[in-house]
Amino acid sequence: IERPLSAEFQAADAPDHALRPRTLADFTGQEVSRANLAVFIQAARTRGEALDHVLLHGPPGLGKTTLAQIIATELGVGFRATSGPVIQRAGDLAAILTNLQPNDVLFIDEIHRLQPAIEEILYPAMEDFQLDLVIGEGPAARSVRIDLPPFTLVAATTRSGLLAKPLRDRFGIPIRMVFYTPLELQHIVLRAASKLGLALTSDAALEVARRSRGTPRVAGRLLRRLRDFAAVMGGAGAEVTRAQANSALNRLEVDANGLDAMDRRYLSRIAEHHQGGPVGIETLAAALSEGRGTLEDVVEPYLIQEGLVLRTPRGRMLGRQGWEALGMVPPAGFAQ
Ligand code: ADP
Repeated sequence: IERPLSAEFQAADAPDHALRPRTLADFTGQEVSRANLAVFIQAARTRGEALDHVLLHGPPGLGKTTLAQIIATELGVGFRATSGPVIQRAGDLAAILTNLQPNDVLFIDEIHRLQPAIEEILYPAMEDFQLDLVIGEGPAARSVRIDLPPFTLVAATTRSGLLAKPLRDRFGIPIRMVFYTPLELQHIVLRAASKLGLALTSDAALEVARRSRGTPRVAGRLLRRLRDFAAVMGGAGAEVTRAQANSALNRLEVDANGLDAMDRRYLSRIAEHHQGGPVGIETLAAALSEGRGTLEDVVEPYLIQEGLVLRTPRGRMLGRQGWEALGMVPPAGFAQ
């Protein structure tokens, strides 16, 4: 099913690559992390050493892959990318590591999906730039140690809580990606629009920003849809106005709060079947036919940050904003 507000990568997002910022200065938002990274990168460059390993964690679509590429560009080193589920055997990882140039960046997306046996190989590689491999089987098996060039592992995960602690501890630079403010997203939208050759007013851009669930990937997707509507409805070259943006976004079933159908199903479930909660995450996942992981990694983070949902020890509860978003009145005795 098509979900314009889903932050997860979809095939139609492929043209995104043209919109990716390439330098730290071009990267909007994540101010604190960006400032820190600039210092660490400068220091590593000055010393001519590999940057410490970086762990990027946060919901999908917030710019983890983009930032990993920027780190390599700013360091002036090569960039190799792979992902946790792709690395099936120790030999796969060994091949990648032994082919790196000194100080290169290796990006591993979805590192929480790495197999435990592969993780074990990664530890000495990250710590001492050494690879311990077992070659052969049975009594003829022997272990060999291979020296690796120094490198920087940049890893991405939707939740750092999913990582084994010894792995987490080996990242000197952990970075938590946060949702973007409407103003940051407005800036991103205007910049992307000019790259797409789409003219829109700044309040039209803010309208797109407000409805993007705090997520640049979603903003980019809505912007491309808006471009389609503009091409069909508007006069060529005319600026898209706020009213036009509004009507196009409404047709995409993106509501004024920037919630999509899945968000609303999630919130109504808690409101209508559980009187606002608390209700356990497993119960919700079963009722909505969604994986628990999808709810926790993709749906909930934004709803929780915006105060629509509260995570309590006894389960999920609707917050005041959650009732408001549904246009419902909280039951008597509601105390949040
Ligand atoms: P993630 O790896 O966290 O899922 P990506 O790095 O693939 O996210 O980013 C998704 C899309 O959003 C990319 O197309 C990228 O161009 C855009 N994007 C992400 N962060 C920013 C940003 N800070 N400024 C501008 N565009 C961004």
